Amino acid sequence: MLTVDTLSTAYDRIEVLHSVSLHVRKGEIVALVGSNGAGKTTLLRTLSGVQPALSGRILFEGQEIHRLPAHVRVARGISHSPEGRQVFGPLTVEDNLWLGAFRRQGGASRARLDAVYSTFPVLAEKRHAAAMSLSGGQQQMLAIGRALMADPKLLILDEPSLGLAPLLVDQILDVVVDLKRKGITVLLVEQNASAALAIADRGYVLETGRIVLEGSGKVLLLDPKVRAAYLGT
Ligand code: ATP
Repeated sequence: MLTVDTLSTAYDRIEVLHSVSLHVRKGEIVALVGSNGAGKTTLLRTLSGVQPALSGRILFEGQEIHRLPAHVRVARGISHSPEGRQVFGPLTVEDNLWLGAFRRQGGASRARLDAVYSTFPVLAEKRHAAAMSLSGGQQQMLAIGRALMADPKLLILDEPSLGLAPLLVDQILDVVVDLKRKGITVLLVEQNASAALAIADRGYVLETGRIVLEGSGKVLLLDPKVRAAYLGT
């Protein structure tokens, strides 16, 4: 579904991603792990088009997308739930969700809204509340719900469990597994590497802008280097 081919990205001509290649197959959950500053967020932002690529190619469903603006990538089926949630605080929960559907008008969006509310019932209860009044976990659900409103084929999630209590981390990752069951492909960046690799079909380890390891979630969980560097064991 997604092929990243020797992709490099720079900020002000300082390269932070160096020739990254990876792929995500339809129906997979793929986890991307790595320490702070490795370039995980930059990679996700380059895939969704918020950050331009310096060189290399990104193919989605066989077509080059790396020159397309972000909103066109959304229309093609790529949704990005960004690091830090970035919900619109003064707007209601429901208005935040509608904003996620701006590329998809009409009846289909009403059905999407109902689907998001059935995935996250607490958002239905709080539909008229200002987003900034929600707890951290609820805001995370809102950010994911907003991304789902675009009816994505590929959902990109940046640190969905950041700052959440362990019970909520499990709840969010259960939703990710459920979304996979519903046919959505997921590329997941997680600080919580063990939890992410446990639900992932495959994973990649990014270190200082380079992919240094790839494998199935289970194999990476057992890899001594991964355990030492990212799992604290
Ligand atoms: P974290 O887990 O801390 O979010 P990360 O793996 O997502 O880390 P990035 O945020 O992608 O890493 O950062 C990769 C590198 O790019 C770091 O050296 C960072 O300082 C630098 N960087 C990130 N954003 C910018 C920016 N807007 N301008 C300049 N440099 C940046």
